[in-house]
Amino acid sequence: MAELNPQKRLGFGAMRLPLLNPDDPTSIDIDTYSKMIDRYLAQGFCYIDTAYPYHKEHSEEAVCEALVKRYPRDAYLLADKMPTFLVKGPEYYERFFDTQLKRCQVDYFDYYLLHNMARDRFEETTRYGGFEFMKKLKAEGKVRHIGFSFHDRADVLEEILTAHPEMEFVQLQLNYIDWDSEIIQSRKCLETARRFGKPVIVMEPAKGGGLANLPEKAAEIFREYSPDASPASWAIRFAASQEGVMMVLSGMSSLSQLEDNLSYMEDFHPLGKEELERISRVTDVLREIQAIPCTSCKYCVDECPMDINIPGYFSVYNLMKQYGQNNFPQMHYRRQALGRGAASDCIECHSCEGHCPQHIKITDQLKVIADIFEK
Ligand code: SF4
Ligand code: SF4
Repeated sequence: MAELNPQKRLGFGAMRLPLLNPDDPTSIDIDTYSKMIDRYLAQGFCYIDTAYPYHKEHSEEAVCEALVKRYPRDAYLLADKMPTFLVKGPEYYERFFDTQLKRCQVDYFDYYLLHNMARDRFEETTRYGGFEFMKKLKAEGKVRHIGFSFHDRADVLEEILTAHPEMEFVQLQLNYIDWDSEIIQSRKCLETARRFGKPVIVMEPAKGGGLANLPEKAAEIFREYSPDASPASWAIRFAASQEGVMMVLSGMSSLSQLEDNLSYMEDFHPLGKEELERISRVTDVLREIQAIPCTSCKYCVDECPMDINIPGYFSVYNLMKQYGQNNFPQMHYRRQALGRGAASDCIECHSCEGHCPQHIKITDQLKVIADIFEK
């Protein structure tokens, strides 16, 4: 059986595969994908990550064509995920899992995850017996390692890991711009996983491509230091440099992206002090140009009679302005609003505004946010 090599930390995510028709996510270019797989495996990497919904449910079959049918089962590690968001009762788990084995044409998965855990999904998965199902799969040898991908705050991660010590690893959204973000909490989540001794797989190291295409002012800071290094390389190396990270997934769409990733991940070196300083300067530039200059200081929150999560909503709005729909801002808005006043609950008392060191017109911004996210 294939095993992870800690020096080979680049995982191949099968969520943005090359397409024959750019408007049709199901039209995966199997020839190009097969060539990419050949090159990736030839360089000693072996971790392929797919999921039920990727490419409108065509990713698993593409993995089967380009990888499973062309390589012995012990030449790679295959990760797949239970689509918890589609599970409506205990009987769904077996059904989805069997479909996934059939789509991939394998007998087992090396890594198997509960997809997209967060507070609400955790409660639902617990109710339906999802964690017991994962343990059963492992006991039966149908999966080798069990874990979950996670999209919520560090305190929720702590709750899940406390309740489920059997989970062997976690998959986190971790990148330099979300490192101290109010809503993604990359750093706090990584620290939590490490406290529980769980190795981390990183997803979205380049924030859905947002950190691969930087504004000129930010790109220049990297270029000055290293003219040939791509912005994506800085983002992926930042994630791979963190203690406790065992794998960084990159959703590669072309041979040239793969070659770029291989050029610095083949013989990986963690970022040095000067490089980390560059990252910090780029983060400052990206923050400066964010749509609402909220620093998440929370001075406004205590004054709000409607318990409106003002900095949380501003973070979601900035996320959407900077990175479009890539990071599911609607989903983040719903999670930020859970149990709190919505943006539209603002009664325009203006108590919050006097406390804002950034002098943000909070009431006006909340109206814009309510219009976008509560329609
Ligand atoms: S103006 Fe709106 S957000 Fe500000 S304190 Fe009053 S209700 Fe809360
Ligand atoms: S006081 Fe201003 S800067 Fe601080 S969290 Fe509230 S809106 Fe953001």
